[in-house]
Amino acid sequence: MPLTDHYPRMPRRTSRARRTAAAVAGSLLLTLVTACDRDEPAPTTSASVAQSPTAPEIPQPAPNASPTIAASPPAGEQTPTPMAGATTVTGRFSSVTGTVDRATLTAYAKMADTAVAEVNKRWKRTWPRRVTIIAPRDATAFRDQVGRADDLSQVAAITDGPIGASGLARRDRVVLNPDAFAKLTPAGRQFVITHESTHVAVRSSLAGAAPLWLVEGFADHVGYSGSGRRRAELAAPLLAKVVEGKGPTRLPTQGDFDPSQGEIGPTYLAAWLAVDLIARRHGEDALQRFYAASRDPNSTALADAAMDKAFVDVLGTTRAAFTKQWLAELNQLAAPK
Ligand SMILES: [Zn+2]
Repeated sequence: MPLTDHYPRMPRRTSRARRTAAAVAGSLLLTLVTACDRDEPAPTTSASVAQSPTAPEIPQPAPNASPTIAASPPAGEQTPTPMAGATTVTGRFSSVTGTVDRATLTAYAKMADTAVAEVNKRWKRTWPRRVTIIAPRDATAFRDQVGRADDLSQVAAITDGPIGASGLARRDRVVLNPDAFAKLTPAGRQFVITHESTHVAVRSSLAGAAPLWLVEGFADHVGYSGSGRRRAELAAPLLAKVVEGKGPTRLPTQGDFDPSQGEIGPTYLAAWLAVDLIARRHGEDALQRFYAASRDPNSTALADAAMDKAFVDVLGTTRAAFTKQWLAELNQLAAPK
């Protein structure tokens, strides 16, 4: 994606990692963030390795966006590359290690502490309730940390960590892309860290794969929870598409999150509004039961079937009926006021 795009792209995922990505887009006084995440089964275990979120952001008036991506490391034991001269700042619920200046490390630690508190309000399962942030000084150090040679210029962060025999992530790290983060507003950075922290919490407390729209939509649901912004404002890029008659016609599929297929920002927003609708209509507890029931130990394809069943068993509706309500709400939000 060109830097002038308003929507982020996720990096190509590797076969052994689950990557989550969050995208952030901004307009005049608005910073929008969307996120994506993919679950992929690990090849040699029943657990999925993760692909982490990527979140790009395009601050204004700067023309473009830099996405943030979080990717999980391959399953198995992998020792992160040490960073020469790194400093660690320990927050209340966080640890931030990096080669940027101490004031920046401290700022990230505060954001991570805020993120953990936000996640704890929404995610009730037991998880370590701490996040580890890695803040490399430059692109080269970032590449060394994530072990990738492909173009990561649009990736804001990569979360990675091994998946244990239980299917739960262990020792996840959120590695920040310094070039991308430099383009984010403070609110955009907070969103990305909260979004990624949500993935860390879910990955460490709920095994198996879930439909991508639910994974990403939930991370955005937590990420946006403290924004104080109206839905119509945050979802403006998606609603513009709805007005043009180019809005969604069904819940997002995994392919809709593929940057090679087109803009992915609106997809994240669509996923977020679907999750948000569940939370408003059925409550946070029901949303989490729905999330937990919409999973399969090995396959996102089977998770889709589990989700169909969960619509009935947990929410007392059907995917078709819910989709109809969600699309009606998108049209309502997009309608001129
Ligand atoms: Zn994500």
